[in-house]
Amino acid sequence: MKQYEWVTQSPEETMNIAMQLAMRLQPQDVIALEGDLGAGKTTFTKGLAKGLGIERNVNSPTFTIIKEYRGRLPLYHMDVYRLEEMEEDLGFDEYFFGDGVTVVEWAHLIQSYLPKQLLKVRIHHEGEQQRKIIFQPIGERYEQLCKEIVEK
Ligand code: ADP
Ligand code: MG
Repeated sequence: MKQYEWVTQSPEETMNIAMQLAMRLQPQDVIALEGDLGAGKTTFTKGLAKGLGIERNVNSPTFTIIKEYRGRLPLYHMDVYRLEEMEEDLGFDEYFFGDGVTVVEWAHLIQSYLPKQLLKVRIHHEGEQQRKIIFQPIGERYEQLCKEIVEK
């Protein structure tokens, strides 16, 4: 399966990759973020928000599972860490199939609710400031999206 990798040396570089992606996002796009605590999932989401023209500060939704931001497109930011394996349906489809873009931290915890096609983004913590970012497109829409980003 084709995947795309980058190595970044700062939070800004990670945000820049996310901004390249954000420019090309459309309604109903879904990004599934994976990576340990402190890997950079929220940092990546900040880059998406910036790229969508969202000025509000994005932080991890600790008490709310889902936060909504307004930009060029609405951004639905989910952090489902606290759901653990409960697999509780919080009406996820309204977001996935809504008017905006959805980004999910710890997406595998709601595996059974995720759409079949999505962009999986894995972040590996390789050093204090070094991260490896891997895009794995699942489905034609996301394969196309990844090609556009690398061929820009
Ligand atoms: P997560 O949401 O995965 O738990 P966060 O984005 O909240 O992770 O935290 C990542 C932390 O790592 C931040 O403090 C960020 O400044 C720092 N960091 C250092 N280098 C990088 C990098 N290359 N990419 C992303 N974050 C980085
Ligand atoms: Mg986070």
